[in-house]
Amino acid sequence: MSRKVTDKAVVNRPTRHAKTIIIGSGFAGLGLAIRLTQQGRNDYLVLERGSDVGGTWRDNTYPGAACDVPSHLYSYSFELNPNWSRSFSRQGEIQQYIEKVSARYGVRDKHLFDCDVTSARWNNDSAVWEIESSQGSFTADTVVSAVGALCEPALPDIKGINGFEGEVFHSARWNHDADLTGKRVAIIGTGASAIQIVPAIAPKVGRLDVYQRTAPWLLPRLDRPYTKAERLAFRHVPGLQRLSRAAIYAARETQVVGLAKVPALMQVLELVAKAKLRGEIRDPELRAKVTPNFRIGCKRMLISNDYYPTLARPNVDVVTDGIAEVRKNSIVTKDGTEREIDALIVATGFHVTDSPTYDTITGRDGRTLSEVFDEIGQQGYKGSTIANFPNMFFLLGPNVGLGHTSMVYMIESQINYVADALATVDRMGLRTVEVRRDMQDAYNKDLQQKLSGSVWVTGGCSSWYLDKHGNNTTLWPDFTFEFRRRTKRFDVAAYDVSLSRADLKAVAQ
Ligand code: NAP
Repeated sequence: MSRKVTDKAVVNRPTRHAKTIIIGSGFAGLGLAIRLTQQGRNDYLVLERGSDVGGTWRDNTYPGAACDVPSHLYSYSFELNPNWSRSFSRQGEIQQYIEKVSARYGVRDKHLFDCDVTSARWNNDSAVWEIESSQGSFTADTVVSAVGALCEPALPDIKGINGFEGEVFHSARWNHDADLTGKRVAIIGTGASAIQIVPAIAPKVGRLDVYQRTAPWLLPRLDRPYTKAERLAFRHVPGLQRLSRAAIYAARETQVVGLAKVPALMQVLELVAKAKLRGEIRDPELRAKVTPNFRIGCKRMLISNDYYPTLARPNVDVVTDGIAEVRKNSIVTKDGTEREIDALIVATGFHVTDSPTYDTITGRDGRTLSEVFDEIGQQGYKGSTIANFPNMFFLLGPNVGLGHTSMVYMIESQINYVADALATVDRMGLRTVEVRRDMQDAYNKDLQQKLSGSVWVTGGCSSWYLDKHGNNTTLWPDFTFEFRRRTKRFDVAAYDVSLSRADLKAVAQ
């Protein structure tokens, strides 16, 4: 949601209407499109700013990109894949899977690709959403925002960075034309993206400076290729894939106890991480530099087997002095040291709690989502609806994020909820549905109470999980099966509703 509509042909296009418009086609938007098709609700469109499905897996093509959740769990429950080549899939294989699913379920012709939504505004009089995009205007009875939290790259506000004259790009917008071979490269950030990039590029660059602000916790990555026999078994032995998926799910869910309920238990994982650190980094000075100073789990736990060994390479330096400024061809740290570089990789994450897309959505009372969030924080109801935004649903909205297991599980829970909401609207002949503010407030009070004892709040770190009010508005603070239970059915009693004109007439007669 960013570019302006300038093309005259596009501006003159007549406004198109669809009953439901889905914005974004990553795992979430695509999954909902498939569900709507399966339900025979074919009057929908998916507006996708990229030129294919896949979302974050289409965009994050940086060297080493791979998933931290095992393959058999990180896939749709309705489309298991016996052919995963590894226990943890790499970006290319996941993207291929998503593309294949979109073709198999026949939903690609419902997509408008390269369609960048620039604004969505609720019209109270006609009870429709008015949408502007790089491909013209649309109206919709219902809009589903499926853009996700990790779509808008965050660039660091560092003095002079715009004046850097070498190659500079964000991890999520990798410039594959830039040849880093033999170059002096700097990378800013040591999050999930950076710790995959560093080992992937270190062997080919001349020098690599890793600018670390906060040392992350690392755990072993239990990744390995699947043998041919295993893949055959997954394909032919009935129930084996489901069993493997269920076992991974159950094992991962045990982490919720430590993360969300009894953070002291996280010390067990801390012992594992410390042993790994001791085993993989011999140099005490480097080890001290990369030893985290907060409870494990407070920030996202990372998994890697090659990050620490890469830091120990002679051509890699970990720089912890803090960046004072970026110059035309160098970085100067706060201690005054200047390091010359040819290329700068910015692996500084995403606008999660302050997404620019929030400025482009205007609700019932004329306020944008940003303005509403400014006042109350990034709050919603079941991560799926927000008061003041009638007939709008969110996939991956507030407090549905996870640090321990598959987001696809949460997405499918929300798809159940939204699909049931759309069916309820039709069945009851509703013109509008808008979550009641008192229900939203009570829901968030409960969430924040649960979160107050979690490692994300008590663990002694600052992270992108917290919004500017200091509240964790990104993560789900309980077992994921509890979220599944709560989103099984659309609870229309939690909503203010209005009847359609035809139904109002019938009631009046
Ligand atoms: P991230 O986790 O937000 O990490 C950003 C890094 O940049 C942090 O080390 C941060 O330091 C640093 N940083 C930010 N602003 C800075 C500044 N002004 N100066 C210096 N350092 C700065 O971003 P990410 O690595 O792209 O990952 C984002 C999320 O994407 C992950 O948490 C995960 O959910 C997902 N992801 C998943 C995978 C996977 O499954 N393997 C891979 C990549 C991404 P501080 O820690 O001090 O803030």
